[in-house]
Amino acid sequence: MPLARFINSYGQLPANCFVRMAPESVSSPKLIKFNNSLADDLMLDWADLCPDTLTKVFSGNQVPDTADPMATAYAGHQFGNFVPQLGDGRAILLGDVSDQGGRLYDIQLKGAGRTPYSRSGDGRAALGPVLREYLISEAMHALGIPSTRALAAVSTGDMVYREDRLPGAIITRVAASHLRIGTFQYFAARRDLNTLRQVADYAIARHYPDSLQTDNPYLALLDQVIDAQASLIAKWMNVGFIHGVMNTDNMTISGETIDFGPCAFMEAFDPATVFSAIDQHGRYAYGNQPRIGQWNLTRFAETLLPLISDDQDQAVNKATDQINSFSSRFRSYWLNGMRTKMGLNDHKADDLDLANELLTAMQIGQVDFTLGFRNLGDAQSEKGRERFLNLFAQNGPINQWLEKWLSRQRKENLNPILVREKMNRVNPAFIPRNHMVELMIADAVAHNRFDRFEDMLAIVSRPFDDQPEFSHYADPARPEERVRRTYCGT
Ligand code: AMP
Ligand code: MG
Repeated sequence: MPLARFINSYGQLPANCFVRMAPESVSSPKLIKFNNSLADDLMLDWADLCPDTLTKVFSGNQVPDTADPMATAYAGHQFGNFVPQLGDGRAILLGDVSDQGGRLYDIQLKGAGRTPYSRSGDGRAALGPVLREYLISEAMHALGIPSTRALAAVSTGDMVYREDRLPGAIITRVAASHLRIGTFQYFAARRDLNTLRQVADYAIARHYPDSLQTDNPYLALLDQVIDAQASLIAKWMNVGFIHGVMNTDNMTISGETIDFGPCAFMEAFDPATVFSAIDQHGRYAYGNQPRIGQWNLTRFAETLLPLISDDQDQAVNKATDQINSFSSRFRSYWLNGMRTKMGLNDHKADDLDLANELLTAMQIGQVDFTLGFRNLGDAQSEKGRERFLNLFAQNGPINQWLEKWLSRQRKENLNPILVREKMNRVNPAFIPRNHMVELMIADAVAHNRFDRFEDMLAIVSRPFDDQPEFSHYADPARPEERVRRTYCGT
């Protein structure tokens, strides 16, 4: 039986966009997890295959007949410095498949061995980061945040050498595409206008076909990528997600979150929060993410200038207007998110103040971001209010804020039970808390035990449901449990 009908659209781009090659084989692969429901959505008839075949496919030991495996080329700004050649140093794109709605999805093995883009790397991934990516990308999806998905995880039976000797693994990731800002930068840096145009046309056809109805499709592409990223980063900010490595090669054209390296969810609210061990200056701190998003989009706009107009001044003016619109678009997405988090329906002039005052009070009170919003849903009743206030280390400005919020709720005259229900559908009870993620990884790496991984995956796949039996997964880390640094593991 052929394994899926791969479409292999990327292979139709010019030959300098990729290097065709199969994954390197591994010694004794074991299937850790297969995402059946995602496979169904993608109409992959793989669920019927024997586990042995799945293990071979997801370890790279067997390439599906119709696949056209390749490593793709891209460049990127890493921590502000331009690197003209990065590319898939440890990932192999098998090809793309179509879901039930006719949308295309890439299927890619990450950790599949060395490629011409590996530089000094070994082309492999360690088990810990693979499980982290699996869990957090699925959590993001369940939270309603555009994200690449996890289709499978396998252990390879081979060891990888980082600071420690670690078990190796491969994650199979599914993405609306793997086009990144860095893909455009690769061809712009080489002044290869011909390939750049073909990549842009491909991006338009795949993600933003409406652009073709406008006078200037490349400007429309820029417009829509800016919009998708403004919306995405607003969603991150609304759940306290910190990506950790917002390099331009880790920012998609589709508007999906990609590359879950040292990412983490913030606990006590503080915009300066940084987890990533490699982010020494806090470039990618929680509160900087919108600004960095705009900076990255500016790099994207630069690559498109020659396509937008032959007249450079005109191209720059048009692109600059687009880039300048990022802040107001982001603010509007973010504020809409905050309104629903606060259980407000109407749009009022002082909503922005109300949102910011709440965050200030949470920061002063050192309140856990997730619990704070989850408990706010109960704060219309006296008892619930007490529980909400108990989260604050000191009461400070929160009492005043609550008065304002309650009077606003009364003015909107909404049914408190319905308001609470609505708030609970946007304010998660469960996020993948960092200290629990670390425990889950330690269980797997040191003891080859995956029950905590399975538990956490089940819990964060229903983030808005109260799951009283798992309430300890909803609790913030105690001081001695706190994880301050997260690692890429690359
Ligand atoms: P990342 O930090 O995962 O976004 O990766 C940045 C670049 O480094 C990409 O070009 C990756 O393909 C490459 N890279 C990361 N880890 C490895 C590895 N173990 N072997 C080869 N290349 C890698
Ligand atoms: Mg990357």
